Amino acid sequence: MNLIATLGLFATIATGFSQVAVVERPVATTTNSFYIGNRPPLASSPFYKLPIGSITPRGWLRHQLEMERDGMTGHLEQISPWLDFAKSSWADPQGRGKFGWEELPYWLKGYGDLGYVLKDAGVKAEAKKWIEAVLATQRPDGYFGPRELLTSLDDGKSDLWPQMIMLNVLQSYYEAQGDPRVIELMGRYFKWENALPVSAFGEGYWPKLRFGDNLESIFWLYNRTGQPWLLDLARKMNSGMARWDQDVINWHNVNIAQGFRAGTVFWMLSQDPMHLASAERNYEKVFATYGQFPGGGFVGDENSRPGYVDPRGGIETCGIVELMHSFEMLTKITGQPVWADRCEEIAFNSFPAAMTADEKALHYITCDNSIQLDRNNKSPEIQNTGTMISYSPYEVYRCCQHNVSHGWPYYAEELWLATPDNGLCASLYAACEVSAKAGDGADVKITEETDYPFGQTVQFNIKTAKAATFPLYLRVPRWCEAAEVSINGEVADIKSQPLTFIKLEREWHDRDAITLHLPMKLGVRHWPKNQDAVSVDYGPMSFSLAIKERFTSYGDRNANWPEWEVYPDSPWNYGLVLDSQNPTASFKLIQTDGPLAAQPFTPETAPIKLEATGRLIPNWQPDANNVIGKLQPSPVKSDQPDEKITLIPMGAARLRVTMFPVIGTGPDAHAWPAPAFKASASHCFEGDTLDELQDGLEPANSNDHNIPRFTWWDHRGTREWVQLDFPQAKKVSSVQVYWFDDTGIGQCRLPTSWRLLYRDGSEWREVVESAATPATKDQWNVLSARPVETASLRIEVQLQSGFSGGLLGWRVK
Ligand SMILES: [Zn+2]
Repeated sequence: MNLIATLGLFATIATGFSQVAVVERPVATTTNSFYIGNRPPLASSPFYKLPIGSITPRGWLRHQLEMERDGMTGHLEQISPWLDFAKSSWADPQGRGKFGWEELPYWLKGYGDLGYVLKDAGVKAEAKKWIEAVLATQRPDGYFGPRELLTSLDDGKSDLWPQMIMLNVLQSYYEAQGDPRVIELMGRYFKWENALPVSAFGEGYWPKLRFGDNLESIFWLYNRTGQPWLLDLARKMNSGMARWDQDVINWHNVNIAQGFRAGTVFWMLSQDPMHLASAERNYEKVFATYGQFPGGGFVGDENSRPGYVDPRGGIETCGIVELMHSFEMLTKITGQPVWADRCEEIAFNSFPAAMTADEKALHYITCDNSIQLDRNNKSPEIQNTGTMISYSPYEVYRCCQHNVSHGWPYYAEELWLATPDNGLCASLYAACEVSAKAGDGADVKITEETDYPFGQTVQFNIKTAKAATFPLYLRVPRWCEAAEVSINGEVADIKSQPLTFIKLEREWHDRDAITLHLPMKLGVRHWPKNQDAVSVDYGPMSFSLAIKERFTSYGDRNANWPEWEVYPDSPWNYGLVLDSQNPTASFKLIQTDGPLAAQPFTPETAPIKLEATGRLIPNWQPDANNVIGKLQPSPVKSDQPDEKITLIPMGAARLRVTMFPVIGTGPDAHAWPAPAFKASASHCFEGDTLDELQDGLEPANSNDHNIPRFTWWDHRGTREWVQLDFPQAKKVSSVQVYWFDDTGIGQCRLPTSWRLLYRDGSEWREVVESAATPATKDQWNVLSARPVETASLRIEVQLQSGFSGGLLGWRVK
């Protein structure tokens, strides 16, 4: 019996062999007989997760998991101090120890699943060791885990965030191994939570923004036990937590990646359309400003910040894996295939480049345009100071180091989903084998053979001991206009549309073979909100300039676990020469024959490349921190010759230019402006910047912390200098300097004295032949002089004894 609504819009075609339809999504009017979905009164589930272990990944995805096991995640107990069993509060029966926050649950969340998905006995046993210890921490009143968390928030309140992660660990363990103690522990813990006042769910910086995760765990338990008080707890938690259902209420990238879906998770209970719509609304709000480039991420290098939208900014690895998790969850909650598309986009394009190709190190921030991954400070272009983009397995990236673990295992668990009509759905495409019950309870195996996303054909082979009638759903991605299906060689008569499912319902027999062809084509996307730059897609993959990558190891902590900087050994500052009538005709697709490499996400092994034509833009240069210069408006003039350039899949490029300026020759083409100046100094504090000395911003006073600044911190009492070099000599008649002085907050003061020098040949000369000038607070300090012609100006200061100093602005007339 077919209980799935077919949209009137699409035809259901009865062919000789089966019913073929195109549906927007499975509509749940009944429930799957074999798998656990939502129990009333929760909204019925359009998709059901299969028990962990039902899907055996193969091909490149399996290799990612094997590298994860053999790489950093699999060995993190030897690398991370937070995973010291003897010192962890998570492993002590009394919940007392040295380390008891998010790190252990973050790591275990993916590590356990890695073992279940790979069916790796060693990993499973190691995870079990920790899980047993965690189960033993529960108090009679239901609280479990580190006791220090009960009072660790600023005002002595409880931090319930790390438990939210541990609940995910336990849910997976139960789904894989069926240990009933998980159900008991979670029930007791939620009873304990239910005794808390509503206000307990509005505490702390992280917890109140992330209780959507806790809600999902409550519903998970409710679907297994049906205890109505769990829904009371969900309502209470929802009313106490931060209001993602109303708006994007926090701009930290990981909070967004988890929190944006919270309202839609709660919709399963409330069934308020506003709640259902809130995830999509929040997603669009974030991406409309900060996600104006391909690859599935957004600029949130710690926080999304007004003005920082250029693709030289990026997203934290925690943000990437949490977005993947959210997209997987939303696919199941809403049945909307767009979420699976978004999951593939970030998984294929951004996630691989967040790690080295051997998964032995990762970085904090992954950007679309990123031309040098050194260990030096990139702030303020990337918000945090210090090392953010070189690759390291160590605690410099403390949260991501542990949290990255769940990215690929969770992905592998979601390749196939069950449907309410006892069918199965291929949701995310990758080589694998799925074993599941379908139809009237037949044990069905389906092998999926494909190189997707590096290939456009997916072959499904059915193994079943007896004939079984059930619907098989195949997702049609948003970029695919004409998917084709054949069953046992017979082409099905369908007119598929992007963002739908092809539904094949029939009696399936052993050795039935289904071939799905998802024709990929080249696409060029324009990005008006990012200077009219363009990006290039082929199917679900976007492409980046192939830059010759030179890996240089650094650090000497452990020879087995090196840290890596990556430097460019070929030019990267190209604009694309496009055929204006037919932009996609500007690219030639080169596909390598032969079997797919085990790790296709490298420049050498990626089997698809694009040939294109580019021209160098000489004025496009890195800034003082070796961060790629900001995009300038396209089209861009270049008098350089046409060159043949190669683009590779974005996920394979660790150095990359993905957002390209377009070369123009007409009257509308802009000259790429040369930097007005290059600034240097005797010393610049990391986190400060020399590039914004002439940003045009008016300081409110010398103690203004809201605008970029330059300081010599932590040099104190010394003689220092800061210098501007201009591309050409210019006539200078006066300068204005705004001094930074953070009396009451920090240790910067006005300098004792200062003087202005200009370069005359190889000599530095004083602009004003006078004694050094005193400095004044809270105003521009004007120094007029006889005009001099020079390409370099320098301010020399004597810092006050015991204090440092700096500038908020420097104008030159
Ligand atoms: Zn992180």
